[in-house]
Amino acid sequence: MKKRCNLCAGELQERVMKIKLHEGYDLLIIKVKANVCEKCGWTLYSEEAADKIVKIKEKIGEYIKNRLPKIKEICDKVHMQRIGEVYETLEIIS
Ligand SMILES: [Zn+2]
Repeated sequence: MKKRCNLCAGELQERVMKIKLHEGYDLLIIKVKANVCEKCGWTLYSEEAADKIVKIKEKIGEYIKNRLPKIKEICDKVHMQRIGEVYETLEIIS
């Protein structure tokens, strides 16, 4: 039997969602398996996946805090500063 949406009883489909989290200037993209309602878009993540997302966010926050932005001269009196990076999970969290 197909799983149904709690809100509209539409059919749930298993999908890989990309959750975007901002950590200062940095962006974290976490790929997570979820059940998504075809009709209304309601999204259900497993409890384990939700826990993992919180842990990843905490750990990467510590990692990023320990680095300073790099300022680099690219030509006469023009400097560039790193203001952010993008990280994406390699594994799909489920
Ligand atoms: Zn629905």
